[in-house]
Parts: sequence; C-alpha cells; structure tokens
Amino acid sequence: MHTNPSGFFRDRRPAMGRILWLVVIVAACLSFAMTRQAPAARAEVTSQFHDTDLLLAIPREGQLSFVSIEMMMADDGTGNFAAQVDAVRFSVLSQFPGAVPVVDAQVAAQYVLASFRWSNRTTNWSYNPTGKPATLTGDAGAVAAAADSWGTLGAWRFTGGNSTTAAPGACQNVTDGQNTVGWYPQAGSVLAMTCTYWNSLGNGTEFDMQIDPAWAWTTSLTNIGVDMQSVVAHEFGHALGLKHPCDFTQPATCSASDRAAMMYGSYTGGTIKRLQQSDDIAAIQALYGASPMPVSTPTPTPIAAPMPTQTAVLRFHVSLPFVSHE
Ligand SMILES: [Zn+2]
Repeated sequence: MHTNPSGFFRDRRPAMGRILWLVVIVAACLSFAMTRQAPAARAEVTSQFHDTDLLLAIPREGQLSFVSIEMMMADDGTGNFAAQVDAVRFSVLSQFPGAVPVVDAQVAAQYVLASFRWSNRTTNWSYNPTGKPATLTGDAGAVAAAADSWGTLGAWRFTGGNSTTAAPGACQNVTDGQNTVGWYPQAGSVLAMTCTYWNSLGNGTEFDMQIDPAWAWTTSLTNIGVDMQSVVAHEFGHALGLKHPCDFTQPATCSASDRAAMMYGSYTGGTIKRLQQSDDIAAIQALYGASPMPVSTPTPTPIAAPMPTQTAVLRFHVSLPFVSHE
C-alpha cells in the first residue's frame, strides 16, 4: 500500500550467515491518531505523541530472532487511539512474516537501556533526502544536529552524516549493513520509525530511521509543526541503545526527571525538545561510560561491562497498550 522509492528492495538481501539472532528495535513510530488523510490535514499538529511497545520473535535462517517495536502514537482525544495502535501493529507484523508477538519483560523506574550497544561506542550514519517534503529546508542540518547532540554526553559518538542514496530498508526487514536516515511513507498514522539490529553478542550491526514525509515537519524555531531535530534526536537515542525512562500509560512510574527526558515516550507537537536532560545523560553514560568521546579518531575499544540481560516470555497474542490522556 506504500509507494516504493526507486530501488528500495533491490540488492538488499542480507549476507548469509551474518544474521544470527538478529534483534531489531523498531523504535518510536511517531503516529497521529487520525485516519490517514491528505498531507494538508496533517499540518494540524495539536496532539501528544506517545510511544508504545511491541516485541516480536521471528524465525530466521533456522534461528530465533527478536524484533522489539516501540511505536509513538499521538492521542488526539477522539477515543481512537487504541484502534490506531492496533492497526499499526498489524501493519508492522505483516512486514515480518512468521513473527510471534512477545511480552517484553523490561521494567524500570529510571532510564531504560535496550539489549544492545555498539561495541566501538560509535556508529557511522548517512542521510538520504530522497522523498522529503518539497518545501522542507534545513533537514540535513537538523538530522546532523540531532546526531551530534549525543556526542558530548558520554563515551559515545555518531560519525559520518554524509549524504547517501542507500534506502532505510531495515524497517521492512531488509538490511544492507548501512545506517541510514531517510524518508519513507509509513503505515497508518506512523510519523517515524527507527529499526536497530543486533547480534547474539549484543552488538549493534545496523540501524535505519524512516521518516514519513506526510507530516508537518519543520526545522526552525518559529512556526513549529513537528520539530524534526527533536524527533530525530529521540530516534537516534533509540538507535544508540536507549529506551524510554518509564511507561507513560502508568504515570506513577514517571518522575519529573523522566518526563523531562528526551527519551520520555511522549512528544508534544509544536514544541522543541532538542536537548538531552539528566536522565538521558545518565542513560548514555550507563551504557557507554562517562568520558566524552574525543572529537578526533574514535578508539574501537571493546566494552567489558556485561550486557543487560533481555528476558522475554513468548505469548501468542498482540498485547494492546493502555490509553492514557495526559
Ligand atoms: Zn521513543
């Protein structure tokens, strides 16, 4: 049901043997709780955007892989939020044939780490502007600023930021070994989606970020629609290994610090949220260490600390999120 950017699925088959115990985070599908309409209707940004989770297990090359999905949806107060989430989940499921929904056992009252990290404390990314909104300017700069915002907080840095023609196909279960930020029409009401793969050692192997061009993306500090840098910075946080600090559907689990965090699972349309807060900094330092990365050549030092253990229980149903009106 989506248009297919040129060459999207061409020559993008993963190398045999490279994918063992692949784990995918489809992170933060920012969504709008309205029926998909003409792009002009989407210029109205009045909603809270909330994330919700879906973790899948998929058989792949004789092994079981995991797909953890975090979808940020907008609750516009019309009462259709749960139905919108349900529709998007079914759409995502359709892109991972044979996948079985799993209950993610991760619970925390502070920052939450995913079950992977990048062993060199860095990853190289590129930006593909193909398919962006015709009137959008400053997009490449916004993406670069979002990536760079994570680079001085701990022993972590995104590198690269070059322009590319590679497609961000990981969200369609198609990997190419390149970490790509790009544009792709999303199912239903999804705004943006980040998909991160990692191997059995817990080391990241690829992430792609897809942004739906049908939304009112802006890059300036005035007339803000959906602030591209704010959302992309949150997505980059998922790509480097962070989850949300608490469950917004259970407000008792969310402190003021949680709510202030860039990685909090809500974003208010029309606002700016470009700076990492104390909880975000604590998270990245817990994962990669406190010393800022040198600006020059990154040192590929293996990380010795043990990985957080991911525990998951197979459940043969899709668990729908609770709807919370904040
Ligand atoms: Zn998120």
